Amino acid sequence: MSYGSRMAQVLLVEDDPAIRGALIRGLTERGHAVESAPTALAGLEHAVGKRPDIVVLDLGLPDLDGATMLTMLRGASRVPVIVATARDDEREIVAVLDAGADDYLVKPFSAAQLDARIRAVLRRGGEPVTDPTVVVGGLRVDPRSRQASLDGVDLDLTPREFALLHYLAARAGEVISKRELLTEVWQLPYGGADKTVDVHLSWLRRKLGETAQQSRYLHSVRGVGVRIAAPKD
Ligand code: CA
Repeated sequence: MSYGSRMAQVLLVEDDPAIRGALIRGLTERGHAVESAPTALAGLEHAVGKRPDIVVLDLGLPDLDGATMLTMLRGASRVPVIVATARDDEREIVAVLDAGADDYLVKPFSAAQLDARIRAVLRRGGEPVTDPTVVVGGLRVDPRSRQASLDGVDLDLTPREFALLHYLAARAGEVISKRELLTEVWQLPYGGADKTVDVHLSWLRRKLGETAQQSRYLHSVRGVGVRIAAPKD
């Protein structure tokens, strides 16, 4: 499996779906692979299990306060954490920095500001974020220019097809469920709209010049989901 190893894998812990959706889009456009969790406990499980490069943590979560979550996280992981707070409250900010946060932003902030902080924190940690292009065999997916090519030929993709291809290619080799695609690429709840994923996958497959019967990159795993992998030939 070849993999865009320099892009940051960002975990966004945020309970507000509108903020979550906007930040996922903005950070993805800037070359990061973003996954999200809506509660502190889901975020802790993800941060420990999937080991992202950086965590963006909203302090106003429904289940735990930020300082408590940070203390629990620091018991298990040294992952860099940027805290997002709605309150310009100096005591709160000092408490989370003491609990192990690396930086903070006061809401509202833009994806561009968050991206700049992410890069700065990762630079300090000595992990350069440079070329975010994801390469899988002859497939190249560049989230900065939103251009994808196959064997050197540009693919003419809609924004949604590009987002779908980028999401899958950044996780090459993993089987991704349609539920995950619907929530992470479409930001929709599961149920009813799962045909949407099938339709876009078939369009994407056609643009990659393959069919479900003769797949090269895009492999359906019946009843489970879909996986991108480089062809073996
Ligand atoms: Ca919140």
